[in-house]
Amino acid sequence: MKCKKCGAKASINMRQHKLALCKEHYLAWAPEQTERFIKKYRMFQRDERILVAVSGGKDSLSLWDILYCLGYQADGLYIGLGIDEGIGYSAESQRLCQKFAEARGLHLHIVDVAQEYGQPIPALAQISHRGRGRPCAVCGLTKRHIMNRVARDLGYDVLATGHNLDDEVAVLFGNTLHWATSYLVRQGPVLHEGPGFVRKVKPLCRFYEREMAAYAILRGIEYIYDECPFAEGATSIYYKELLNKLENDKPGAKLTFYLRFLDAREAGFFAPTADSMPELHPCPNCGQPTSNEGLCSFCRLIEKAQLHA
Ligand code: SF4
Ligand code: ZN
Repeated sequence: MKCKKCGAKASINMRQHKLALCKEHYLAWAPEQTERFIKKYRMFQRDERILVAVSGGKDSLSLWDILYCLGYQADGLYIGLGIDEGIGYSAESQRLCQKFAEARGLHLHIVDVAQEYGQPIPALAQISHRGRGRPCAVCGLTKRHIMNRVARDLGYDVLATGHNLDDEVAVLFGNTLHWATSYLVRQGPVLHEGPGFVRKVKPLCRFYEREMAAYAILRGIEYIYDECPFAEGATSIYYKELLNKLENDKPGAKLTFYLRFLDAREAGFFAPTADSMPELHPCPNCGQPTSNEGLCSFCRLIEKAQLHA
């Protein structure tokens, strides 16, 4: 397989785009495409400050690298979850994020959940009894709270996450299976800011996971290969496997599913409902918007944890 641009040996073949590229041309193509998506979906402008949520994985570090190469003002945020089962997942991912930032002279904010809130994620999950033994519900709630808080408190215009096409399509598939219109109406490359909420964007939402893995490897980015030990057996992974089978037989199926969904959403197919737009007011403790009466779900969780301490 040869590079379409220069005829040298190709490093990646993207069947859905009928495009094979060598290392040099792929490393130019991926940032160009990202810039195109940033503009197309009006994610942010050159003069805006971006906070990139980094986990130490290939997607978020590649995203930070691409924004850095494109000349955007992007700082990083690492959230220490305290998941040290298996390979010492959190410690290793933090080390890799710090190494990445230092090598490029970039600024990385670190928030350690146990230091800040008294308990790491696995302990908070046990106390809360949410999620039937899996800490993901508590982890997701905590990460969303911290990301929004840090972005707002430190005056960032936008929060960027490294979700790729495979992530987005797995979520879309799950929401479609359940016809969860209140989620479908909010899914997309940009979630606009609202009172108390920072704008959230996903600049990699049109890249396949393997494209980001190729980018990270070809750029020599050191990232954590292992998934979080709690990811095993997750429904989203099952959906990803199903969708990979589909993609294998029909190259481009995932991208088409996602893009046609965005078209339908744009055309008003999923109208906002009372469910998708609940009435929000500031949490009396942390000030973040919540639909709860009284404390937000995160503050309730921490209150419960403190009672157990
Ligand atoms: Fe958190 Fe791990 Fe679950 Fe992801 S898989 S939500 S990092 S606990
Ligand atoms: Zn709160």
